[in-house]
Amino acid sequence: MWRLTVEVRPLGMLHVAGPGRPRPLVDRTVAVDARGRPYLPASSVRGRVRAHLERLLRAYGLPVCTPPRPQHMCPHAGLAGTSDGYCLACRLFGSPWRAGAVTVNDFYPVGVFEATEAEWERNMVVRTGIGISRKLGTVREERLFFTEAVPGDDALRFRGTLEARAERAVVGWLVGTLGLVTHLGGQKGRGLGRVELDVSGVAVWTPGRGWEEMTEHEVESFCREVVSLALAGTVAG
Ligand SMILES: [Zn+2]
Repeated sequence: MWRLTVEVRPLGMLHVAGPGRPRPLVDRTVAVDARGRPYLPASSVRGRVRAHLERLLRAYGLPVCTPPRPQHMCPHAGLAGTSDGYCLACRLFGSPWRAGAVTVNDFYPVGVFEATEAEWERNMVVRTGIGISRKLGTVREERLFFTEAVPGDDALRFRGTLEARAERAVVGWLVGTLGLVTHLGGQKGRGLGRVELDVSGVAVWTPGRGWEEMTEHEVESFCREVVSLALAGTVAG
């Protein structure tokens, strides 16, 4: 069992929707935790990582199904080249018929951004937009909406963990995929949500010994090693 600690660094404003503090005029609030701080719900990270893993597997010509419709997902997708009828994306993140091997936890602000609710409230950005009618593709009359966003700041980090019950090469796919995630949350088309993900910690759990955290140096070489293991597997077929 592996536990990856992952840091999310926003490269600009970030809008991860969720139940937030009600604010006058704001139509779309960002998710906030019990302490009033914005956070990244596990589901928002999980969905994006899975989508990138699917793309990566496809790029390497490996079997992968096409969520979200159950009849197109493993094992009903009928993919050739899998050992048990499930593609790697379903093995890691689950399908309607199978629990995944990866648990993603919520991501919380760390460091200087463990600010109080009042400080966060002052720092939040409200963006205005114009509602577009999807049907007509035209601007809907007088439909302004207001979107709340977390400001981009060089020092801001969100930290969370992913736990994976998997062999090293499979963890390699996960580590490789994390490096490919470039956006989180909504409003991507409006330039929001650019991020960089970085594996900052790795712990391994073994029966009788519990969790053992790797040193910074070990984390680096572990990540390199498992990613090359994953890719070596594709070459060998
Ligand atoms: Zn699948």
